[in-house]
Amino acid sequence: MTKRITILGSTGSIGESTLDLVRRAAPDELQVVALTANSNAKKLAEQAIEFDAEFVALADSNNADTLKNALSTTKTEIGIGPEALIEAANRQADFCMAAIIGAAGLQPTLAAIDQGNHVGLANKECLVCAGDLFMKRVADRGATLLPVDSEHNAIFQVLEIDKPEGIRRLILTASGGPFRETPMNKLLSVTRKDALAHPVWEMGAKISIDSATLMNKGLELIEASYLFNRPSAEIDIVVHPQSIIHSMVEYIDGSVLAQLGSPDMRTPIAYAMGWPNRMHAPVERLDFSKLNGLTFFEPDTTKFKALRLAREALEAGGKAPCVLNAANEVAVKAFLQEKIAFLDIPRVVEGALNKHASRSCFGTSPCEIDEIITTDTEARNTAHEQIVSL
Ligand code: NAD
Ligand code: MG
Repeated sequence: MTKRITILGSTGSIGESTLDLVRRAAPDELQVVALTANSNAKKLAEQAIEFDAEFVALADSNNADTLKNALSTTKTEIGIGPEALIEAANRQADFCMAAIIGAAGLQPTLAAIDQGNHVGLANKECLVCAGDLFMKRVADRGATLLPVDSEHNAIFQVLEIDKPEGIRRLILTASGGPFRETPMNKLLSVTRKDALAHPVWEMGAKISIDSATLMNKGLELIEASYLFNRPSAEIDIVVHPQSIIHSMVEYIDGSVLAQLGSPDMRTPIAYAMGWPNRMHAPVERLDFSKLNGLTFFEPDTTKFKALRLAREALEAGGKAPCVLNAANEVAVKAFLQEKIAFLDIPRVVEGALNKHASRSCFGTSPCEIDEIITTDTEARNTAHEQIVSL
């Protein structure tokens, strides 16, 4: 039976890898329902034509004409503006890939969850900023959440989910990013280009910077806590520069189960899109005779303060993860625009967290979307103030 696929954020790195799998699937195996993008109308139109999409949504209205002109001779329907992304998510599909970057993906992803279908979750920020609401919605709507982030996908593959009492801890692996061996004093002057050059993974700009600060691992710690319902104390992080082991679960009998594979996102994407079956992914196969040494280190949370801040935000609970995420999005954008230095990123996040903690002690976890949007907006404003005062 043909599986109907929607991709939120189809023009990004995860979106394109997902479409690569669709392109290589057998005819009639997968059919594209809806595709969405922020502003890249040209790429969205090309994708719509190649995959004969039923509907496309472009968030940024400035490029609407480009999209309309490019698709004028096709049957593809077009929606413009943020509400069109919700319409894309509402279209009847069997699998929706949530691959928008940042908290901007929250409402479209919730709309996909409301359909009660299978949702592949790459967009970790929407879970970080609204974890409790998000997981409650998944349960209430009977949706199936399939983690796409490689670490969470690995854990999902080896987790004995129906026997939680046997689980001792989750172990997230981290590549360590491009600055794993860079001394602290040299981090003062690293550039945008240095930070974007990830040694193992090819990804979008925001997650590449998050990987360089290790905030990515911090967001993933919070993501794992919500996805697998485990407290901070039961989630460890280990640096594993080769990125062959994608994460592990330790059981009370001392067994450790790991998922291994080449560092290629098409493996976790295929796992999520094919679930409960396996589908082929054209990735490099592991050759154990050529794997000369898998190494593991403790992360340095003095050098990479962002990781410590994320753990503290998870432990503080309430609105803290939402504040952390919003402030980080603002700081990363400012760094990418070369307005602040690399080490200013965690400084801005810490400043925003401190300001919110002194005002509200983070309160309880927001369970209404309006409360999340308000917290997110306030935290962004605080982060901008921090940047001005640097
Ligand atoms: P990307 O920047 O390459 O692509 C982001 C996509 O979201 C694009 O299609 C863009 O048009 C869309 N988008 C951006 N801002 C938007 C907005 N305001 N409104 C609507 N759409 C918007 O990002 P990516 O690297 O593909 O990452 C996507 C998500 O997957 C992120 O949450 C990231 O953390 C996660 N993830 C990515 C990887 C990876 O290898 N790239 C691995 C694990 C998890
Ligand atoms: Mg990851």
